Amino acid sequence: MLELSTPVKYVKGVGPRIAEVLAAKSIHTVGDLLHYLPFRYEDRLNPRGIAEWRAGEMASVVAEVRNSGLFRTRRMPIFQLTVGQGRARLRCLWFNATYLQDKFQPGQMIALYGKVEEDPRSRELQIMQPQFEILVDPGDAGENGADRKAAESLEVGRIVPIYEATGRLTPRWFRRAIRTALDNLTPELPDAIPAMVRNHVALVAPRAALWNVHWPEPGESLNDLQSFRTPALIRMIFDELFFVELGLELKRREQKAQTGISFRLDDRVRAAIKKILPFHPTAAQKRVLKEIAGDMQKPYPMRRLLQGDVGSGKTIVGFEAAIIAIENGYQVALMAPTEILAQQHYFSARQILENAGYRIVLLTGSLENDRKREIRRHIAQGNAQLVIGTHALLEEKVEFAKPGLVIVDEQHRFGVMQRLKLMKKSGENQDGRVSACTTVAGVGPVTTLGEPDVLVMTATPIPRTLALTLYGDLDVSVLDELPPGRTPIVTKCVTDERSPDVWEFVRKQVKAGHQAYVVYPVIAEHEETEIKAAVKMYRELSGHTFADFKVGLLHGRLDAELKDQVMRMFQKGELQILVATTVIEVGVDVPNATVMVIEHAERFGLAQLHQLRGRIGRGAAKSYCILMTGGKVTEDGQKRLDAMTRTNDGFKIAELDLELRGPGEFFGTRQAGLPSFRVANIIRDGQLLEVAKREAAAVLAGPNAEISSEEISRALVQMRARWRHTYGLVEVG
Ligand code: ADP
Ligand code: MG
Repeated sequence: MLELSTPVKYVKGVGPRIAEVLAAKSIHTVGDLLHYLPFRYEDRLNPRGIAEWRAGEMASVVAEVRNSGLFRTRRMPIFQLTVGQGRARLRCLWFNATYLQDKFQPGQMIALYGKVEEDPRSRELQIMQPQFEILVDPGDAGENGADRKAAESLEVGRIVPIYEATGRLTPRWFRRAIRTALDNLTPELPDAIPAMVRNHVALVAPRAALWNVHWPEPGESLNDLQSFRTPALIRMIFDELFFVELGLELKRREQKAQTGISFRLDDRVRAAIKKILPFHPTAAQKRVLKEIAGDMQKPYPMRRLLQGDVGSGKTIVGFEAAIIAIENGYQVALMAPTEILAQQHYFSARQILENAGYRIVLLTGSLENDRKREIRRHIAQGNAQLVIGTHALLEEKVEFAKPGLVIVDEQHRFGVMQRLKLMKKSGENQDGRVSACTTVAGVGPVTTLGEPDVLVMTATPIPRTLALTLYGDLDVSVLDELPPGRTPIVTKCVTDERSPDVWEFVRKQVKAGHQAYVVYPVIAEHEETEIKAAVKMYRELSGHTFADFKVGLLHGRLDAELKDQVMRMFQKGELQILVATTVIEVGVDVPNATVMVIEHAERFGLAQLHQLRGRIGRGAAKSYCILMTGGKVTEDGQKRLDAMTRTNDGFKIAELDLELRGPGEFFGTRQAGLPSFRVANIIRDGQLLEVAKREAAAVLAGPNAEISSEEISRALVQMRARWRHTYGLVEVG
């Protein structure tokens, strides 16, 4: 008997050599093999007749081979196969497929799958480049008749699972291996999902689910199968989502169980906040501050994510939270992903907060060592109240005298792994106890002070389902309102042949007293070329096109002082046009800038374009974003550009981005801390994810009449094993 944990090499017909091929697909155990699901199904029970298909449909056809042959056209050899059902015929064509020459014999039964098209000349239907499987070979009735019959019965007269081939392992190979594994699978498959949850969600048993996803009942709807909505598939998907959410729920609870700091929020603190506000906060800013302040008053540490589209005014909310901590006698760390942004925060913090008497320091990697040492001393002695910095805060040993609040700005640029590090809970034993801040800001061991609060701010509006998985352990606040008086940004897309017109337009805007950004490509991995392009265009624009204006250049390789100087000059309006690389992507805030020209816009990712565009439209004047394309635009590239011209809404853009790139890419690799699901797909299965979250919370609310403590611990054991071995996530609890 096979267990789910049995190494896959023990499945009959697998063996060590094939096991190696499977390992490359992360299939190590029988359980892994059984989770290798068909990517589609073919209905070979009630196949539609050839004549019933229409052009444009994806057809699944079972028919008999009539004849085949290779013919050469001027451009390439084409292999043609004609199949038939009675008098009906269908032609199949493959380009460049000389390898198919000896493959088919008249009389064979084959299954085909591909797109039906109409031959423009004869108007007959044909299938281009179909996938195929030879089902029955008339000349092959040989010795192993019984075996062959059994195998055939897996391939015809039923709904047949189609697996993705890998190496020399064909879909048919998988079909047979998985069938063998199922036939020999132990009848005892314990269900780690508590009965309460099974009842709530009406889940089928694990064994039935495994059988059914591979070998659907004859009556199963092909539609439900293709959309992953049969009871068996739902069970498999829910199974994965539930244990991820259970882990996240547990983390949340553990965080709440830690000792934090109960900040006081009295009239004095309120007055201090009011005093610094340079404008009336929006209703959204007020609401969000209330949520944050509520957390800060609680006796357990805050773990809150503040989401707000570019320009929604997150910085001031961060400063307000900082004042609460500082007024309570604690220190605050504010981290930004780039030096430019850290400097800008430092700049505005001094404008807004220094008048009120708060002591602010800037700590970045590029400071001289002496200077760094001095600043670190200020921090350690508690003189510095607000510490602004880059990753330097994360990487270097910075000891805080009395850390109270950590603010992480533009979190998406930090990578989710770093966030997990940041959120990592305290060490198990008292002595080795590290605080959340220890990993984030190098704060020394905190034993008596209580865990600092953590506020994470991001402009990447994450679709709700993703937020539930990625940030399931955080509370979320949303700034869903822009400060008043903003006019929507107008976005246009043009080819770079139109650049003279574009420059003319920029000229007009600058003459009217506004400022402009011109951003150069592009691909993050090619920083060198990116800088070259910017430098070259800077020469051209400053020397010729805009010789009469003051033009600045900004890229990542400039030394910090120069960067700072350029940024400051642009901020003060001493530069009218800023030629830059994507270093200005996040956070930069110059309200007088009303034009953003992005060259080679087709090469940028959608999120990046949106972030860049977020640099303008920050004041009352109408702003314009001009996306210039050069060269060929791919289909996806076009979709990105269209999305940009269509909407300014960061949420819509994020959702489209997620769709175009898939969840893995959306946040970078697995490193991003996204669970690696085998069956679930968080875009498709958003609703199930919400159910899983709800059920996970219900489980942890037990034990009670519905759920026993044994069931809860069994679920937790399973959850820990999954987090470690299957989801590739950091350990919990
Ligand atoms: P982001 O959310 O992108 O970090 P910022 O905090 O940089 O946005 O704010 C964008 C701009 O809007 C800044 O110039 C800021 O001073 C301004 N701003 C923020 N809140 C308000 C408000 N309530 N009223 C007017 N202007 C505001
Ligand atoms: Mg910001």
